[in-house]
Amino acid sequence: MAENLKVLFLSSEVMPFAKTGGLADVAGSLPIALKRAGVDVRLVMPFYRTIKEGAYENHMLIKDIEIPFGESILKANIFETLLGADIPVYLVEREDMYDRPYLYGNSRGDYYDNMERFSFFAHAALRLSQDLGFVPDIVHCNDWQTGIVPALLKGPYRTSGILSGTASLFTIHNMGYQGIFPREKLPITGLSETVFFHPEGVEYWGKISLLKAAIVYSDVITTVSPTYAREIQTPEYGMGMEGILKGRSRFLYGILNGVDYNEWDPAKDNYLESYYSKKLISGKIRCKEALIKEMDLDLSLKGQPLLGLISRLDDQKGLDILVKTLDDIIDLDVALVVLGSGDEVIQNTIREAAERHRHRMGIYIGFNEPLAHRIMAGTDLLLIPSRYEPCGLTQMYALKYGTIPVVRATGGLNDTIEPFDEKTGKGNGFKFGPYEAETLLNEIKRAIGIFKDKKVWKKLMANGMSADFSWDNSAKAYIDLYGSIVEKKL
Ligand code: ADP
Repeated sequence: MAENLKVLFLSSEVMPFAKTGGLADVAGSLPIALKRAGVDVRLVMPFYRTIKEGAYENHMLIKDIEIPFGESILKANIFETLLGADIPVYLVEREDMYDRPYLYGNSRGDYYDNMERFSFFAHAALRLSQDLGFVPDIVHCNDWQTGIVPALLKGPYRTSGILSGTASLFTIHNMGYQGIFPREKLPITGLSETVFFHPEGVEYWGKISLLKAAIVYSDVITTVSPTYAREIQTPEYGMGMEGILKGRSRFLYGILNGVDYNEWDPAKDNYLESYYSKKLISGKIRCKEALIKEMDLDLSLKGQPLLGLISRLDDQKGLDILVKTLDDIIDLDVALVVLGSGDEVIQNTIREAAERHRHRMGIYIGFNEPLAHRIMAGTDLLLIPSRYEPCGLTQMYALKYGTIPVVRATGGLNDTIEPFDEKTGKGNGFKFGPYEAETLLNEIKRAIGIFKDKKVWKKLMANGMSADFSWDNSAKAYIDLYGSIVEKKL
């Protein structure tokens, strides 16, 4: 089945070209696993400034392709580069839209014209596939930036041209980003107001939601873990869209993200001070010492637990409960390293805390991929106290690095972390339920208690390092779904 499948994979960020969060990791590794299984998969993303500066080998494929933009036609150039050895990535070049310092906006807010930018991107993806004569069975869309595509395939592209038989699968990576814009912008999309702008369509409380558009019009919806697939059908996690999702629950699947162990494996991670593995663990101690020095922490703490946090600084990530109990955590005679970028208010709170705890708390505000790897390797515990977490990748990376996750029982964190049981020696981390500073602190205390027993801790590390979350299983689940859509079983 996989051999005959053609998939056009659309994502607003793809590793290694452009990244703000986990979506980029997924878009940079799932297609490689799909290709390995025999799928003819090709990607489309905007040609951002960061990609130009990254000097990836590329060439122009189509010059001056005409893209619908409301009533007018705008031109763009399509470049091609490769993901992995042989997966085409089509880059949509339009300087006034994508040649900017950030992907979506800065820490103070989004670009005012994101609706225009991503509506244009959606049309460009479908137009270039027509131009190349690449007729995908499925367009695999990701998050609101591509949310208009399923509606376009049910609308303007259904009746005209070679995409009339193409289906869509939409993956929700985060319900918190709903792509909401004023209704006056609808004409830009090329969707007919009478056909699409109503409560069963793209309309959402009088505005347009591109996320809702995708939920309503895609043939199949997936999200990135089984627990999150259930959670988003409830008011607590559905963020207002639980009813719409429930209505489509027959077409909603949860498939856990995987890990790209070519990027995230301490046995071959070139960012680290020293390689290490489950069998040869001593390198982890060198990584810890190097990190303590790099972050200017008190060296006398090297025998104590070193805690880490690598996160977008966003409400979602549980930073409010962490900050509330931060002084108590540091009082446990531990040190903490924080790497994060995002919300300005949260950044300032973290800066203030670091001032209070000099040499016990090391911070880096900004995006820093090499440092993320060094923290993953150099810490003993990784804190992920998320309010909600669709899948979460860092807990899976941490396991491979022998760093024990302390997570809240939600979404993919719930699906991947099994609480450690000292009696049976089973489990791979620490997990707490209620979203409260106190429950987080208690779980950290429990972890630190176990850390003191080196033999038990070693067992816990070994459990985590043995886990295998590679992409192949998840890719197979996607291929089964693609197959069911093509065979019209769904
Ligand atoms: P989300 O997609 O919600 O941000 P995930 O856990 O799915 O959360 O993915 C986060 C990814 O982004 C991981 O690869 C993590 O290492 C990375 N990351 C987050 N913040 C930073 C940062 N400031 N610098 C470098 N990498 C970061």
